[in-house]
Amino acid sequence: MEQQNQLLMKVSTPKVRYRPFGLLAELTYRCPLHCPYCSNPVELAHTNSELTTEEWKRVMQEASDLGVLHILFSGGEPLVRKDLPELVAYAHELEMYTNLITSAIGFTRSRALELKEAGLDSVQISFQADEAQLADAIAGTKAHSRKLEAARMTRELGFPLTINVVLHRENMGHLSRMIALAEELDAQRLELANTQFLGWAFKNKEALLPTRSQVKEAHAIAEAAQVRLRGKMEVLYILPDYLGDRPKPCMNGWGRRFLTVNPMGEVLPCQTAGVIPSLLFDSVRQHSLQWIWHESPAFNRFRGTEWMPEPCQSCTQREIDFGGCRCQSFLLTGDAANTDPACSLSPYRNQLTALVENIEQHSITPPAFTATTTHTRPIHFRTNPKGLPVRLAQPTAPSRDRISTGGYPIVSI
Ligand code: SF4
Ligand code: SF4
Repeated sequence: MEQQNQLLMKVSTPKVRYRPFGLLAELTYRCPLHCPYCSNPVELAHTNSELTTEEWKRVMQEASDLGVLHILFSGGEPLVRKDLPELVAYAHELEMYTNLITSAIGFTRSRALELKEAGLDSVQISFQADEAQLADAIAGTKAHSRKLEAARMTRELGFPLTINVVLHRENMGHLSRMIALAEELDAQRLELANTQFLGWAFKNKEALLPTRSQVKEAHAIAEAAQVRLRGKMEVLYILPDYLGDRPKPCMNGWGRRFLTVNPMGEVLPCQTAGVIPSLLFDSVRQHSLQWIWHESPAFNRFRGTEWMPEPCQSCTQREIDFGGCRCQSFLLTGDAANTDPACSLSPYRNQLTALVENIEQHSITPPAFTATTTHTRPIHFRTNPKGLPVRLAQPTAPSRDRISTGGYPIVSI
């Protein structure tokens, strides 16, 4: 590790001083759902090491001092933390815009009222599909009906509502109905995010990667909805990296606008960066957030454009897409500094092409989660970290073992 740090220190600190605008506060990795595309790490840490209430308050104060204006309380499921209203109230006092990113399990009326009183500004609820059977099969637990209740209650209480749907092979054919559901629930914003193959999704890419024709059709449906719903509901459609020609500007550039603090206090440029083994992410338990943001080797490793290899180094797009995603580059090529294979100019593009072709050749229809035949490819449902139990305000949801997986074996790691 010492050698790694020495190597990292050789990377010169960029002259530009960046300011973070958004903080993703991952309060816990505990969650009652088991989504197979979850962005949480596949190797989940023991929850006993979660930051305390006082530690989170210090983090928020330091984030505010750095210029952060927007805090997203996320997880896992942030409602698992009993101190959530206290943390929201503290962020509100610091005049940050507060957003709850939730599965909605545990978002009872009394909890919602408590959060409203604390100053919570808006709520984002994830949906797995438009109907219960498929949605519950994807979530690995019975959650859909409770999400519907929670979304209606969210609007009744006057919170702005965002609905987030992660799109993949299984639910893409339901896109029109998911848009209709978001309209019916009176959402102000609908995020339709093609699966990013990081975290658990990378482990499940064979089951989740949509076909090209599905993506083409989804794109047309999303574009039509954007036009039709303009002024009523904002529809965001996040393109798929694996089936495109150019990468997205991941996090708007490494260490440029956003930071993530994970449940144990490690600070990362994005929530999945922990997958890069050559980087050591410093903790708020050892350093100030200011030092980590401005000075830490990990935050400076991929800042700016100096670190970029060719063809990015001399490309006109380099300050637009920032060379793509470092985590994706690592997962697909073994080196986070390589040009993202999601770019057709990347020397590693053929590795992604071969991977996609292989998945396409062996893709399974009918889709995985609700198929009645047994398939050989397992789905890896996201597991919980060991340690503290997943306690919720409502009775705990039924175990995923009671949900049909359509013949797919559930694999825990
Ligand atoms: S399991 Fe699902 S609901 Fe829970 S944190 Fe992961 S993606 Fe979110
Ligand atoms: S070569 Fe690099 S900077 Fe240029 S488009 Fe591709 S990823 Fe972006």
